[in-house]
Amino acid sequence: MPRFLNLLSSGLALLLPRECPVCAGDLPWNAPAGICCGCWSGIRPLLAPLCDRCGHPLGSFPANPPPHTCIPCGKNPPPFRSARSLGSYDDSLREILKQFKYTGRTEIGPILGTFMVSCLRLQMPAREWDGVIPVPLHWYKRWQRGFNPSEILARSVARATGLPLLRRILVRIRPTSTQASLPKSERRRNVRNAFRVRRCGSVRGRTLLLVDDVLTTGATAAACSGQLLRSGARAVDLLTAARTLEARAWE
Ligand SMILES: [Zn+2]
Ligand SMILES: [Zn+2]
Repeated sequence: MPRFLNLLSSGLALLLPRECPVCAGDLPWNAPAGICCGCWSGIRPLLAPLCDRCGHPLGSFPANPPPHTCIPCGKNPPPFRSARSLGSYDDSLREILKQFKYTGRTEIGPILGTFMVSCLRLQMPAREWDGVIPVPLHWYKRWQRGFNPSEILARSVARATGLPLLRRILVRIRPTSTQASLPKSERRRNVRNAFRVRRCGSVRGRTLLLVDDVLTTGATAAACSGQLLRSGARAVDLLTAARTLEARAWE
């Protein structure tokens, strides 16, 4: 198309009313990452009190002194030290994440990452880390999708916190079925032995912040954390954009 027609069509696109892909409402020209402010502010935080370990809401304030853990963490604590999420995986946040992951709107990631850091500062104010590590995709899936959503979030978290981003250190060595498509009982088996640490020297003795997009049963996060700890990491905390409120299934 000639250059002037290109300019004309982009000019017209700016003048025509646009639609927010999440709520189908009017979209102002300056909406962050092409999503309206109503949808961004519709992200629902998880309500305190939260389990000190996995971050699942406890429902009511426990009478006993801290640490407060949910029943599954009390019986069988996960390998990660604690997990926190920006919000629950419903309404606005679920639709925003679908736009980010499945329509290639990668510009959404850095905004979510910045919000995740605010959540981290509020909920783990005293913690310090040596590096940020994304939950990896298998190379074939990454090639198919063109990007790893967790890596975009982790990069944004690293930039906002000033921590180094540790890429290609934790790798997924075999393709796994999408966790969402599996019954809870099979999710642990699906990710067992799926991850490997390539350079143990990069994680040995370090406290790491593992970043993912959604925490569902925690099986993937537990498999990654377990592998990092077996490779010598001192501790692993988990930060995700969203979490579902369902049964936990870690080893
Ligand atoms: Zn909207
Ligand atoms: Zn818990």
